[in-house]
Amino acid sequence: MTIVGHFINGQHVADDQRTQEVFDPALGTATKRVALASAATVTAAIASAEAAFPAWRQTPPAKRARIMFRYKQLLEDNAERLCALITAEHGKVLSDAMGELQRGIENVEYACYAPELLKGEHSKNVGPAIDSWSEFQPLGVVAGITPFNFPAMVPLWMWPLAVVCGNTFILKPSEKTPSSTLLLAELALQAGLPPGVLNVVNGDKEAVDTLLDSPVVQAVSFVGSTPIAESIYTRGCAAGKRVQALGGAKNHAVVMPDADLDNAVSALMGAAYGSCGERCMAIPVVVAVGDAAGDALAQRLTAELSRMKVGPGTVAGNDMGPLVTGAHWEKVRGYVDAGVGEGATLVVDGRNVQVAGGAEGFFLGGCLFDRVTPEMSIYRDEIFGPVLCIVRVQSLDEAIALIDAHEYGNGTCIFTRDGEAARYFTDRIKVGMVGVNVPLPVPVAFHSFGGWKRSLFGDLGAYGPDGVRFYTRRKTITQRWPSSGVREQAVFTFPSNQ
Ligand code: NAD
Repeated sequence: MTIVGHFINGQHVADDQRTQEVFDPALGTATKRVALASAATVTAAIASAEAAFPAWRQTPPAKRARIMFRYKQLLEDNAERLCALITAEHGKVLSDAMGELQRGIENVEYACYAPELLKGEHSKNVGPAIDSWSEFQPLGVVAGITPFNFPAMVPLWMWPLAVVCGNTFILKPSEKTPSSTLLLAELALQAGLPPGVLNVVNGDKEAVDTLLDSPVVQAVSFVGSTPIAESIYTRGCAAGKRVQALGGAKNHAVVMPDADLDNAVSALMGAAYGSCGERCMAIPVVVAVGDAAGDALAQRLTAELSRMKVGPGTVAGNDMGPLVTGAHWEKVRGYVDAGVGEGATLVVDGRNVQVAGGAEGFFLGGCLFDRVTPEMSIYRDEIFGPVLCIVRVQSLDEAIALIDAHEYGNGTCIFTRDGEAARYFTDRIKVGMVGVNVPLPVPVAFHSFGGWKRSLFGDLGAYGPDGVRFYTRRKTITQRWPSSGVREQAVFTFPSNQ
């Protein structure tokens, strides 16, 4: 069986003393194994990134950006290969994998702006013959730790921007979906990225802890579940590193009584069940304002679910693939059982889904609960599966209070035809990314991505302007070139330009 290894200093490295199964979720069987890096291998990756840093930091930003232009082209040329690997390990349908990759490529396009992004700020004559400027210097060796659900996009949120800012990088992808991420690194070398600037170590807690404990690693970007995000943030900060840790979510969509229901239902189908609900910006909760909206949503979503095609991601025309692993399938199914036990109405039960062609993977059909209440576990917890809960409220204020009381604050949206209601909602809601008639308001690459509350630990979001700030350190230089040779008197007052 193939063992997916590591990529250090531009070369494949085995270190497969410890390995773990990688599944094809549509088959329900392990098709590969992934090597779990030892502390020694991670230390070698750190050494490789450290050795590459001095020359890379001195490489002009325009030259770094040119590599990114070539990289974008290589990603496009290899899109089918990359997406086949994503679908084979994650299970999402190929068109969805293409969407993910395209979003990742947009982050590479943003990284191509490096010379513009790193221009700094300049002020002439801040005092007599004194000029001052701020420049943005790289941090050094930076690490990124990524989740299974976007094996191409989330790594591309991180390392292209980090390296065009002059850093060198160690990426630790999810052990569930390692292969496409490894190919991303091979293509970067092909694009001209010097060996050691980007290193990939596959692994688990041992690899992550080695990165967190290394004094060489200056900063850590993490994306994953909230408990791990919080522990990585705490441990990394205690070790004096800069850390941004993006966590889990439970995103609510509010449907107002005046909403265009046809369009809202179409949008909700994609947002709730796309990628089998395994997206941090998925919509697992719809908040119906008024019982008429609740009844109409339950009825129309039921009709749509009967048409949704569930099956292998490789088969064109399928809307939803399987869950990522058997363990995750058990967990999500357990939540559906729990919802029934807690008294919610299971309007559509996807537990015994039949998949065309008799595929035997980790498939779960779309599930729809109505009359879900805030104390239920299916409402509180991030399920990360194809389970949509309808919660009924009587006013927009009640919807806002409900959303604000939830521990997560990643994304939300409102469906309405009323501009005033939309403005009221976007102004008040305590959530980082908000859509108005847009179900998945994932910011484009030249904005930044970040939730509020327990969906983000740290001050800066991912990619875009926040990413540039995260991957650089400001240095401000104040410079004077006296024009006369006259010796000046010592001055004991604090300098000002009065
Ligand atoms: P996860 O937290 O299990 O794993 C994420 C990464 O952390 C992986 O690389 C994994 O190997 C590593 N890891 C796992 N346990 C660890 C431990 N004990 N110590 C150190 N490292 C550990 O998350 P996942 O299941 O891969 O991904 C799904 C989660 O990610 C969901 O909660 C989802 O909401 C979240 N997510 C968030 C965003 C966002 O931008 N906020 C984006 C995508 C996914």
